[in-house]
Amino acid sequence: MSKQPDFDAVVIGAGITGMYQLYKLREQGFKVKGIEGAPDVGGAWFWNRYPGCRVDSESHTYSYFWSDELKQKFNWTERFAGQPEVLTYLQTAADLMDIRKDYIFNQRVKTARWDDENKYWVIQLEEGGSTPITSRFFFSAMGPLSAPQMPNVPGVYTFEGDWWHTGRWPRDPDSNHGAKIDFTGKRVAVVGTGASGVQVIQEMSKVAKELFVFQRSPNWTNPLGNAPVSQEEMDEIKRNYNKLNEFCDTTLSGFPHKWIDRDTLDVPEEERDATFEDLYKGPGFRLWLGNYHDYLENPEANKVVTEFVARKIRERVKDPVTAEKLTPRDHGYGTRRVPMDTKYYECYNQDNVHLVDLRETPMEQVEATGIRTSDGKLYEVDVIVYATGFYAIRGSLSRIEIYGKDGRSLNQVWRDEGVKTYLGLMVDGFPNFFTLVGPQNGTVFCNIPRCSATAIDWNEGLMQNVFDMNIKTIEADPTAQNEWNHLCEEKLAKGLLGKTDSWFTGVNKNVAGAQKREVLFYAGGIPEFKELCVDIQNDNWRGFLFDGAPAAKLTEPA
Ligand code: NAP
Repeated sequence: MSKQPDFDAVVIGAGITGMYQLYKLREQGFKVKGIEGAPDVGGAWFWNRYPGCRVDSESHTYSYFWSDELKQKFNWTERFAGQPEVLTYLQTAADLMDIRKDYIFNQRVKTARWDDENKYWVIQLEEGGSTPITSRFFFSAMGPLSAPQMPNVPGVYTFEGDWWHTGRWPRDPDSNHGAKIDFTGKRVAVVGTGASGVQVIQEMSKVAKELFVFQRSPNWTNPLGNAPVSQEEMDEIKRNYNKLNEFCDTTLSGFPHKWIDRDTLDVPEEERDATFEDLYKGPGFRLWLGNYHDYLENPEANKVVTEFVARKIRERVKDPVTAEKLTPRDHGYGTRRVPMDTKYYECYNQDNVHLVDLRETPMEQVEATGIRTSDGKLYEVDVIVYATGFYAIRGSLSRIEIYGKDGRSLNQVWRDEGVKTYLGLMVDGFPNFFTLVGPQNGTVFCNIPRCSATAIDWNEGLMQNVFDMNIKTIEADPTAQNEWNHLCEEKLAKGLLGKTDSWFTGVNKNVAGAQKREVLFYAGGIPEFKELCVDIQNDNWRGFLFDGAPAAKLTEPA
């Protein structure tokens, strides 16, 4: 006689995705429990409290579209909200869902082991000695950018001044802000020039006595176009949420920007430049995701856009040598996630800001008083900010050992066989385990709150069948998994993103075994992904095995 688990479903993570998934399951009648490492909800927005942190999707699109109440209740004050406001939004959402009561906070999952006899997961938390939790279903909602990664440089822990990683910034205990740290008059080093680096550099340049930017690879950035949102504008947004939702549902990544339906090289140069000028001003990702439709596939078209943005850098940075150092030469515009800036390049026109080009003089080591480069120079500083990013997409999963049916861990399986999933949601051999916004999912290259909700709304149908028919196990069919893997490869191979080293393609020079590109997201875009999911549902949840067999007559078509 098999034992009954403590819970029907356990969800790891109380960020945007985890909270909604837990809420949905609870509303469906499952007995649920959430586990969260932080003391409260918010996920990435709880931890990333560095100066300058703000969202680069239009605030009102970066939201839970499923909740009319929340949409009408919450007033965004900026077009691109700062981190404290996004966190306030998520706390408001948590109140509305009354979700905190279902979570264990300040706890991390250490291991999870499938018990095939009892058909449930045995989940061990990090706090040693605690009794494991058992659950029939197990959802990971840890976010694609939640495993902060320090640089693999000797001595990083020997620095005697203050240092922080942007992804684990200290908190102000009394507010949603970061800790009140006065950088005025300080010598500050920032390592890294991705989206976090760009934001923190802009802020530090205003107050630091000396700011040393340690740049290994420059990124393309363009103006964010932030502005306050008046009450009248907010009222207008509220009136138009439904229209906006419908529109965003038709765009590649759920953002309010749509391709221009013309081939870049067919457009006369003068007209093209005028378009780029307009898009460059923003707001948001217009230049990146609202450009001519072929420029992220056709290298010649990409060259044209890239040259335009390079020209902009030369216009904005007074010193031509510095401008050249800030110009990427190893990838074209838009082929990596584009950081958005607010007077970023202009910082380098200030006397207190110094660019250290690590391609010329690599970082050799961190010492007690600063950072030493390969030319023997020691940059003495009071503070080091590591804006060195995350072990993205699979990093948070890699930090837990999850043992499947044959006793092998997910880390081992993916090490041996490469990352393979079905729909980016399940992995063959790991029954009842769901990876939300996981590797190879359609929601990874997307506006996360919108797209993860799309995926969760779809899971609802799957889980409803499980609930109604008292199903004990769901698994990915290995053939369907292989087919999905090939489709992901095909889609990624079509565009230039797949041909570029970045966190999208799993390359992280600080992580052993993450030096080669992998297929880590479904690049077909969210409308296509949704269509595929509906088709699978209408085909009796093709590719899933229910209690070991394909669904014969499970569902009503969607
Ligand atoms: P990131 O884009 O991965 O950038 C990390 C930076 O650190 C890169 O410039 C990298 O250089 C550098 N770096 C890493 N290891 C280094 C080392 N050992 N020595 C020197 N430099 C090193 O990380 P991120 O800036 O945190 O951004 C990650 C993602 O988070 C973004 O793409 C975005 O999706 C999200 N994000 C969003 C927002 C927003 O909404 N506004 C803000 C921040 C972040 P290499 O390129 O040479 O490795």
